[in-house]
Amino acid sequence: MAALHGQQNTLYIPSSVEQEMSKYMFASLPQETCGVVLGEAAAGGIRISRFQPIRNVAPDPLHHFALDDAEWIRCVFNEPQLIGLFHSHPRTTPVPSNEDLRNLPIFARLLQVYFIGSPDQTTGTQSKMLLNGYQIHSNVDSSIGMSHDQSYNLQPAQLCVT
Ligand SMILES: [Zn+2]
Repeated sequence: MAALHGQQNTLYIPSSVEQEMSKYMFASLPQETCGVVLGEAAAGGIRISRFQPIRNVAPDPLHHFALDDAEWIRCVFNEPQLIGLFHSHPRTTPVPSNEDLRNLPIFARLLQVYFIGSPDQTTGTQSKMLLNGYQIHSNVDSSIGMSHDQSYNLQPAQLCVT
């Protein structure tokens, strides 16, 4: 059992990075956007340092996202601070969809945090982004022993814009 299991960490994100995500999301409407988040674990939480957009190559980018393979692989190999994923939900709330959870194993082993952004529909102006942060946890039960069926879940994390 990992020492961090169940621990509630805070995700610290500079307002400049949050604004970059927001600008990118609004500029790409009505399509979904995606990208990676760089940062590192620090005392009491995870500090985000950068957002790097990645091209959404989903056949239906209005309702799905798929990271451009080449850009994603470049990040995996060249960004030692790769720590998370961001994508947007242009028409719904920033909570993980069933599809998001199904696709989680594709990225989960490499990442610790997961961000979803949505336009704040309550403001009317569509200029404000609702941002949710989640921590990626592994569901492996150590009592089962060697599990070939590792699964992951997303636990809501405290977001702190600095
Ligand atoms: Zn989603």
